[in-house]
Amino acid sequence: MPLRLHNTLTGTLERFEPLQSGAVRMYNCGPTVYDFVHIGNLRSYVFVDTLRRTFEYEGFQVKQVMNITDIGHLQSDADEGEDKMVLALRRQGYEETLENLYAVGTTYADAFKQDLLKLNVEMAETLPRASEHIPEQIALIEALEKQGYAYRISNGVYFDTAKLPTYGKRMRHALSGDEAGARVETNLEKHNQRDFALWKLGGTIGWESPWGKGFPGWHTECAAMSMKYLGESFDIHTGGEDLKFPHHENEIAQAEALTRKTFARYFLHNAFVTIANERMAKSKQNFFTLRDIETKGISPLALRYLFLTSHYRSPLHFTWEALAGAQTALNRLEHTIASSTTDTGKISTIYRTDFLNALEDDLNTPQALAVAWNMIKDDSLSPPDKRATLLDMDRVLGLDLEHAKSNTILLSDLPERVRNLVEERETARANKDWAKADALREKIIGMEFEIEDTDAGPRLGKR
Ligand code: AMP
Ligand code: ZN
Repeated sequence: MPLRLHNTLTGTLERFEPLQSGAVRMYNCGPTVYDFVHIGNLRSYVFVDTLRRTFEYEGFQVKQVMNITDIGHLQSDADEGEDKMVLALRRQGYEETLENLYAVGTTYADAFKQDLLKLNVEMAETLPRASEHIPEQIALIEALEKQGYAYRISNGVYFDTAKLPTYGKRMRHALSGDEAGARVETNLEKHNQRDFALWKLGGTIGWESPWGKGFPGWHTECAAMSMKYLGESFDIHTGGEDLKFPHHENEIAQAEALTRKTFARYFLHNAFVTIANERMAKSKQNFFTLRDIETKGISPLALRYLFLTSHYRSPLHFTWEALAGAQTALNRLEHTIASSTTDTGKISTIYRTDFLNALEDDLNTPQALAVAWNMIKDDSLSPPDKRATLLDMDRVLGLDLEHAKSNTILLSDLPERVRNLVEERETARANKDWAKADALREKIIGMEFEIEDTDAGPRLGKR
């Protein structure tokens, strides 16, 4: 079956056809590096990684670019409010200079890359930073101005949406009513309230430009950098669903006004991680980071597993119980790998086909996981064949099963004497009888087992 993906541009499932046979060029809207990312943001990048791995599994060569926003992303999508990075400097008591902005951006960009590595995400080939591409952005704005798509007002240069008949129509399948035309803020100097900033004048941190000292608009960064690294037309563009409008509509407007070519052919958007029925967001103070998860003794890869249990276009309702369940499931998969040490097994073609069919159906990862579990439960397959088939599937799942701690032992597989001690210790812990719990731990260690307490329960291994 061919790979089918849901394209926001048409609102339908479309057969994926690359521009260039055997190769995929993809751009992902990356993080704004003003703070640590939360697990909602991370869903976006694990989704992208699953997409990349699926392409690679199918034999495509992938060229991937993910931007790092370190200037120009204002508090409000409507070009108003303060720059999020400048606010971060203020929050940390730093002087508002370009050097400090760059340093703070580097700190959080590095932390972000660490998170991706812990989630076993394959790194994009290029991770360009907005502040390092100011000349490219100025050039793009100058070209738009030359072709009559930009005008100046007292606080900056704006894109003249009325000049582009397709404006507001590209993301129409994703928008309700006339959302595309309705912008709440008013700047009476703008020709049209939906016009957006290409270059903003003023601010404490800025660069010289033909229009005066200032900084580029957030939408300009992605248009300029995607075309620089991937060409005027490329295959795939991704982001969380909040980026459909205005961010992606505005990126398309700039690129297509300039080139008169299709910009990205497929736009893919992931739904949110929610908590208590609300979107997880910095501004709502209802977020967790990967550090919070690790502090509780849960593996980042359990979070990756949890992401895979829901389809990327469905909201994912985060709970600690669900994460603990994901950890248990991950332990079981690791155990399947560890229970056979021979590498001579054969990949089951039947299960491989089912697995691929699930992925080709708009990346149906819950179904792909179900295929993996059916395969594991199938008694007609030998342990080495199960191991080989699961390791093959893990090329897409990305759970790093090959390097799984092969000494993880399921509770049910422990010798009865040890299992009794573990259960006794859990009771002692529940009663807060720490002295007894410690004594039991020593006993367990004395029997050559190691025990680690996690939020998903005790994890046992052979010493
Ligand atoms: P930002 O750093 O705010 O630019 O966001 C980075 C990426 O995370 C964007 O693609 C957002 O759409 C996405 N994102 C933000 N919040 C969530 C959430 N709660 N769930 C899933 N994705 C999100
Ligand atoms: Zn972007």
